[in-house]
Amino acid sequence: MSKTPSKPADLGDRTRLVHAGRDPSEQHGFVNTPIYRGSTVLYPTTDDLLHRRGRYSYGTKGTPTTDALEAAWTELTRAAGTVLAPSGLAAVTLALMSCLKSGDHLLVPDSVYRPARQFCDGMLKNFGVETTYYDPLVGAGIGALLRPNTKAVFTEAPGSQSFEMQDIPAIAEVAHRHGAVVIMDNTWATPLFFPPHERGVDIAIEAGTKYLSGGSDLLLGMVSANERCFPALRDTYDAFAMCPGPEDVFLGLRGLRTMALRLREHEKQALDMAHWFAARPEVAEVLHPALETYPGHDIWKRDFKGSSGLFSIILKPCSDRALAAMLDGLALFGMGFSWGGFESLVIPFDCSTYRTATQWKPGGHALRFQIGLEDLDDLKRDLDAGFARLKEADAKAA
Ligand SMILES: *Cc1c(COP(=O)(O)O)cnc(C)c1O
Repeated sequence: MSKTPSKPADLGDRTRLVHAGRDPSEQHGFVNTPIYRGSTVLYPTTDDLLHRRGRYSYGTKGTPTTDALEAAWTELTRAAGTVLAPSGLAAVTLALMSCLKSGDHLLVPDSVYRPARQFCDGMLKNFGVETTYYDPLVGAGIGALLRPNTKAVFTEAPGSQSFEMQDIPAIAEVAHRHGAVVIMDNTWATPLFFPPHERGVDIAIEAGTKYLSGGSDLLLGMVSANERCFPALRDTYDAFAMCPGPEDVFLGLRGLRTMALRLREHEKQALDMAHWFAARPEVAEVLHPALETYPGHDIWKRDFKGSSGLFSIILKPCSDRALAAMLDGLALFGMGFSWGGFESLVIPFDCSTYRTATQWKPGGHALRFQIGLEDLDDLKRDLDAGFARLKEADAKAA
């Protein structure tokens, strides 16, 4: 039993991040729960083994290390329970598999994280689940798309790369009246900036690879669920035995303790950069929900407590060569997938080739930025030089 005095129930998020999921009295006084490695768990007697007595029975079913992160995430999200996954995408697939079966219908926003879409169009289709993609801005209009066999409505706010802001409470209300489960990929905001289960979400997904890690050094996923959906989620997790490695879970716990600080700093840095881009003559549009001019800003302001370090911009028309000249010469922005680490990143993207419910016609090249923890003046100088290369390349071609 814990020798720690019991904590008040109404702790703030920052206190939860520091205290949740650890009990030094259980660890000889050491602050952190260590990495438990293991497959076999020994039982002291035949009777204990036959009755699977004790919290731990086998490595895939949980260890004190995985329990620590699950408990902390459950506390942070105010969920009934959490399961872990070895990546964010694995968390998406676990969530979907926990509430769908052959013959069911699924609604997914057209702006969904693309590998999730590929899972729906491939694996789920093969197993007899039909997916319809919908306009992410549909709001309460989702009702018109619900069929008698629609069992789940997937959401993600804002949309991956394109940043459409979804009205989650409106969608959840209509979906729930129909009896459908509402799933949300909450990776962008994290529970710190969007409390999913308080906004009507039944199952919330987080790619721990991003802000939980904060270091671009691990892959992890978390799926939290309310009372209604947690039992099936736990069963699905057990069936797949898709458990993350203990070191990654430990690193996730380490990241958890400082996540609020890092996220606030990413928010501040990204907002500064978003305003800077908005004032640039080369930029046609900045897709950042916290900008007052952004179409989804009112929803963001109503439902979110902050914005993270990821946003996109649309450039005024320029050639492919000019874009490459800009990006290839950047010294401080890395080009690559994923985000949420300490370092700034940029990728060009184009959603037009695979959308089915909406059209993506931005009128210029689209770039997604992750703003890291560098000095902003340095980042701006790097981009200034990039824009100069872009203009020079286009002038030469003219
Ligand atoms: C990165 C990401 C994922 C997947 O996370 P991985 O750990 O890279 O598999 C899922 N959803 C969103 C919105 C993401 O950005």
